[in-house]
This record gives sequence, C-alpha cells and structure tokens, in this order.
Amino acid sequence: MARYIGPQCRLCRREGEKLFLKGIRCDTVKCAITRRKYPPGQSSWGRGKLSKYGIQFREKQKAKRFYGILERQFQNYFSKAERQKGNTGENLLGMLERRLDNVVYLLSFGASRKNSRQVIRHGHILVNNKKVDMPSYLVKVGDVVKSANHEISQNIIKASIELVKGRGVPAWLEFRPDIQEGIVVQLPSRDDISVPVQEHLIVELCSK
Ligand code: SF4
Repeated sequence: MARYIGPQCRLCRREGEKLFLKGIRCDTVKCAITRRKYPPGQSSWGRGKLSKYGIQFREKQKAKRFYGILERQFQNYFSKAERQKGNTGENLLGMLERRLDNVVYLLSFGASRKNSRQVIRHGHILVNNKKVDMPSYLVKVGDVVKSANHEISQNIIKASIELVKGRGVPAWLEFRPDIQEGIVVQLPSRDDISVPVQEHLIVELCSK
C-alpha cells in the first residue's frame, strides 16, 4: 500500500533535499528523506537526467520553497540583490535569510518557517518593542526580536522554544531564551546560511 507523504514532504522528495518545512518532524526518523531507501537521483524518485536549465530551475525552486516565498517576491529580491554591491547570489540569500519569518524560526519562536509566519501575522512578535506583523520585514544589525507582552504570545513562544529545544542558533543572532528575545548581532555570511542551494545557478537562470 502506498505510504502517505504530506504535501510539504513531497516538495522535499521532489528536490531530493531536506528543506525543513515541517518543524520538529524534520529532525526525526519520520522525515521522508531520512527514511527513504534510495539516494537522490535514482529513477525510483521519478527524476531523470536534468538539462542545464532544469538544474538551474530546481535550485531556484528549492530556495523559494525553503523560505516559503512566491515567484514574484523572489524576482523582487533578485532585482534588489543585483543592484547591491558584491556577489549577487550571496546578496540574494542574505536578504532571504534576514526575513523576519526566517529569524523567528531560527530563534525557535516558531516550529517551522510556515508556523513562524503565522506567529508574526497574529501579532505575537515585536521588533524593537513595536509590533511587526509582516513576515517579509528584513531585520538589520541591532534589531531586537521578542514576543509581544501579552500572556498568550509569551505562552505560544515559550511552548515553541521548549518544543524545538537544542536546534541551535546561527552566530549572527544572539538568543536569550529566558527572556524570549533575540538580537541581530551581525548580518549573515554565506557560511551562516543553511539553505541547500548553489546560488550561482540561480543567478545564471535569473540573469538571462
Ligand atoms: Fe518532510 Fe521535513 Fe523531511 Fe522535508 S525535511 S521530507 S518537510 S519531514
């Protein structure tokens, strides 16, 4: 009998990479990628040999799925990254990484990036003591991200921190679990960013 694989897990299976879309399930043996029998690229996963365009396209799809953004938003980020100084691919990933929904996820205030977007939209997050309900807000150095002062917000975030205990926080963020607060101490470097993509392939595709 066919085993049920949820829609998000299907996205990971299609990409052959763990995209961490389902919160704590992703770190357990229940993960569809962890328990699969075949390595990526074998025909049983329904993937033949990809063209150069196909490989570039797949990298872009992976980045979009990892951060949960749509094509139009992605193109806007790419245009901004192109206009910035430096490496366009790293600029692009740096911006995606600085999205508030990603930061809330990295600080363990949400179990997954999707859940973090919900937490933000419901008004449970303050940035520099002001409510920010836009998941796309880009944090900057010195920003303080914390739970809203309501008891319900604090309980939601406390429960999430407890749930994903031990996940670890990247070096560009400082995490203070006792007061449910995180500080952006520096901008993320490429080494701090865990998205499993080759950004130069995305740049090649989007620059055409
Ligand atoms: Fe599913 Fe998460 Fe594993 Fe992806 S990483 S297959 S979303 S459990």
